[in-house]
Amino acid sequence: MQELPILNNTLNNNTETRLKKPNWLRVKLPIGESYKHVRGLVDNNKLHTICESGNCPNMGECWGAGTATFMILGNICTRSCAFCAVATGRPEAVDWDEPQRVAEAIHLMKVKHAVVTSVDRDELKDGGSIIWYNTITAIKTLNPDTTLETLIPDFRGFKDQIQRIIDAAPHVVSHNMETVERITRKVRIQAKYHRSLEVLHTLKQGGMRTKTGIMLGIGETKEEVIETMKHLVDVGCDVLTLGQYLQPTKKHLTLQRYVHPDEFAELREIGYDLGFDYVESGPLVRSSYHSEMHVVKGYGRNKWITEKQTVATTVNDLH
Ligand code: SF4
Repeated sequence: MQELPILNNTLNNNTETRLKKPNWLRVKLPIGESYKHVRGLVDNNKLHTICESGNCPNMGECWGAGTATFMILGNICTRSCAFCAVATGRPEAVDWDEPQRVAEAIHLMKVKHAVVTSVDRDELKDGGSIIWYNTITAIKTLNPDTTLETLIPDFRGFKDQIQRIIDAAPHVVSHNMETVERITRKVRIQAKYHRSLEVLHTLKQGGMRTKTGIMLGIGETKEEVIETMKHLVDVGCDVLTLGQYLQPTKKHLTLQRYVHPDEFAELREIGYDLGFDYVESGPLVRSSYHSEMHVVKGYGRNKWITEKQTVATTVNDLH
C-alpha cells in the first residue's frame, strides 16, 4: 500500500543527476505558523506521518493548510517495496492507545478532512485490521464532521480483514496499485497485481468509494498504464491518482524518466473517458494530494465536463 512516496529536493543518486530535474518538480519548503502548529501536535502525540516518512514534496502546502496524513501501526514495515522510503524490519508491539491519540490529534488540529495510512503488518494474525477498525471508529466518533480517507494495505487478500474496513466505513478507501502489472514484482515484491485489484473490488462490493494511485517514471509504458486504468474501471474504482516517481536514495528503485505534464494531462483525459469519477494527474500528485475533493461523488467528473465545455465555447467564439 502506501502513499506515493518520495521526493527529495537533494539529488543524491546517479539517475537523478543524469536526468536533470525539470522545473515543474521544484517545490516550496515547509514553513509558516500552521506548519509549526501541525508539527507540534504530531510530535506531542507521538504520531507518525507518511508526509515525513515519504519525504512528501507537498508537505509545506498540506501542513500549511492544517492537514496531515497519519501513519498508524508504527513506522517500521514488514515489507520492502523497492520505491518506498519507510524502514523495513521487525515492527514494535501494537500500541492499542494509538487510535485514540490519532483521533484526538485530528480533533485538536480541527481538520475537515483526514487521511490515515499504515505500514504493512504481515506478522500480525489480523494484519493490523483491528487497530484499523478502532482508529476509523475513534476518528468518526470524536470528529463527526471530519471526512476520512483510509489508504490501506492489501491485508494479503484476507476478506475478513478487509471487511473490518468496510464495517468501519470511512468516506473513501484507497489501496494503491503503485504500478502496472508487468513490473509489479520489481516494484513491490511481496504484493500481487491481481490481489490488489481484488482488494479494490471487494471494497467496492462492500459499498465503499474506492481510490488507487500509480507512480509514473519507473519503466512502465503509456499503453500499460492505460491497460491498468481499464482493469481498475472494471473493478469499479472511483478515484485515480497519477504522479511522478522520485527516487528517495540511490538504493531505491531507479528512476527511468521524468514524465512531462502534458502526458499527465493526456492520461487524465483518458481516465475520465474510461469512466473514472475523479482523476488527479500531475507530476507532484501524491495519493493524499487534494484528497478532500476526492470524497465528493461527481465533483471531478463535473469539473472536467465544465472545463471541456468552456474550451469548446471559447473555440466556437473564435470562429
Ligand atoms: S507496504 Fe511497501 S509501500 Fe507500504 S509502507 Fe511497507 S514498504 Fe512502504
